[in-house]
Amino acid sequence: MLTPDATLQAILESIKGQIGERELALWFSMIQADSLQDETLQISVPSAYFKQSIEKKYSKQLESAVSALGIRNIIINVKANILIDAPSSLKKSAGEIRHGTASDDGEVPRVYGDENLKTTTERSENKQSGEAKALQNYTFENFVIGPTNEFAASIAVAIGNNPGQAYNPYLVYGPVGLGKTHILKAVGNKIISANPKAKVLYITSEAFLNLFVEATQNKGMTKFRNKMRTLDVLLIDDVQFFAGKEQTQEELFHIFNVLHSEERQMVFASDRPVSRIQKLEERLASRFQSGTSADLQPPTAEMAIAIMKNELKKNNKTDIISDGILDFIASHVRNNIRDMLSFLRKIVGYTEITKKTVSLDVLKRWVADHKPKSQSISVEKILKLTASHFTVGLSDIRSKKRTREITKARKIAIFLLRKHNTLTFTEIGRSLSMSHVAANSAYTTIEKELEIGGPLCEHVFAIEATL
Ligand code: ADP
Ligand code: MG
Repeated sequence: MLTPDATLQAILESIKGQIGERELALWFSMIQADSLQDETLQISVPSAYFKQSIEKKYSKQLESAVSALGIRNIIINVKANILIDAPSSLKKSAGEIRHGTASDDGEVPRVYGDENLKTTTERSENKQSGEAKALQNYTFENFVIGPTNEFAASIAVAIGNNPGQAYNPYLVYGPVGLGKTHILKAVGNKIISANPKAKVLYITSEAFLNLFVEATQNKGMTKFRNKMRTLDVLLIDDVQFFAGKEQTQEELFHIFNVLHSEERQMVFASDRPVSRIQKLEERLASRFQSGTSADLQPPTAEMAIAIMKNELKKNNKTDIISDGILDFIASHVRNNIRDMLSFLRKIVGYTEITKKTVSLDVLKRWVADHKPKSQSISVEKILKLTASHFTVGLSDIRSKKRTREITKARKIAIFLLRKHNTLTFTEIGRSLSMSHVAANSAYTTIEKELEIGGPLCEHVFAIEATL
């Protein structure tokens, strides 16, 4: 009689001919044989979504394959932490850290978040960022899963549970505000929570490029490469930004090859399919696509409502907003979840301050104001409108003057330039006589302000309404 493992292998071999290698790898590489008894084979998959999908898509093929082996039943169990291969790369390197090789330059061995890779001066410039805290918000527990993101999220969960195994690299793509960054960070958090010693790096493409440039200028290449090439998990956000950045692409290509050959997990996010990223070297594009990819679509109304309810609950504001209002928001502004949540915060703020429920007329007006602007808005226009909103001079915003009003106006201008234009922080910094680090930090300040509904939000909304 066959062992459970050999039986599973025989089944997979037989369905491979029918469904092809790619599908087989996607759905069945994380499958494990548990037992074979009384003509019943029990197998495990990494999530309920896998179970449902396999049952829906492949039950016929599975049934005919098992009956050919004289098995009557097949039971699919869900088991998150499936370990298929013997020692994973993760375990190997956790051992290395314990022996102290990774932290002898005085830096934290666990590299997590852009902050940790920055030089000390940069770090002190924005030490209030509370990066670690912000990262905690991005977990799978607070990620609402539904038809439009189910596939992308399930692969991510499987990676979180078993990094470096079946889906490597993984590419998530889709328009802004639909959860790509959330997914990347949740993968990182999940891996770290299971293995606190894992060297996980979440980094935006822009930060990656800046680090690389800095390393080339300061003879820091060896250190940079050492850091990147010894990671267990590399999560790079917004890879569309690498378009046209040839040297950075080349460096990443080599890092990719090293990490991939060592079975270290890589996850990339892009705001469009890789084939639509212009000026991306063919060989890097093909690396990005060499594993699994999944796209994100705007949430359904039910998902949108669930996301908003979560958000309200998190902030103990559940009673403030009626279901009617949530329905209204879900049906009018759910193409971008980030915008939807900031819209919700605006309503919460209004309700708390005025102690009144927001009327339908007001809601309609705000929805009209909130419509995303499709083309980017010129630098000149954004700076002018911001300056006039704060009644400061246009030249003041561009200068290095630091009075309170000017600083406030400048920060908001930076935020709006980034949001409504495709400028990099370096370009923004250049037009406002400051460094890219300072521009980045100003942007983050305002972004956080919007997240918590702070006092600067009103200014942002007011200026946006005139753009
Ligand atoms: P992207 O990187 O695609 O632009 P983000 O990951 O930054 O989008 O998501 C925007 C906001 O929406 C974040 O606050 C994120 O937590 C939230 N969000 C996105 N998708 C979900 C989801 N499915 N469940 C809960 N929150 C979500
Ligand atoms: Mg993002």
